[in-house]
Amino acid sequence: MLRGDLTDRELEQYVEERVLTTTLDKVTAWARGNSMFPATFGLACCAIEMMSLPGARLDIGRFGFEAFRASPRQADMLILSGRVSIKMAPIVRRIYDQMLEPRWAISMGACCSSMGVFNNYALVPADKFMPIDVHVPGCPPRPEALAHAILKLRSKVHGNPPAGWRERYEAVGTEEVVGAADR
Ligand code: SF4
Repeated sequence: MLRGDLTDRELEQYVEERVLTTTLDKVTAWARGNSMFPATFGLACCAIEMMSLPGARLDIGRFGFEAFRASPRQADMLILSGRVSIKMAPIVRRIYDQMLEPRWAISMGACCSSMGVFNNYALVPADKFMPIDVHVPGCPPRPEALAHAILKLRSKVHGNPPAGWRERYEAVGTEEVVGAADR
């Protein structure tokens, strides 16, 4: 069929089927979502489950997440794997602040999200001192649950949501908690 034989609608369809169009934002979000580097950082027993992620069984490298970075400046995802003591909170916050934007954080385990079985004065939930993007329930969560959380986060990043979506996760009273821990 010659191009001149096509109606406008057919020509439109012809082009749609053969030409890939996108925007720079979409390409950037796609690349970011498929190459997140987590910071090497373990807090407690949940970290043992986290360590199995890059192993052969789960092979999180399939999704571009296997390169754990020793420096926060080279990482764009922080997995809080375990309980956070009130003394540790400012240090965790500093590591998070040293990561370049855009950055994401996953709270792994009951202790990190709600203090779990150690619900006492010495601990603080993660979203009291830093924004958390995904919470993973369990004590400890299975590595598969963490992998699921990572893929959920990837979907959010790919969706390129407006900047305001993170505000829902902003901590209330962050300065007070971090300030108290500094004293
Ligand atoms: Fe340990 Fe359970 Fe707390 Fe994880 S949630 S740090 S496994 S006690």
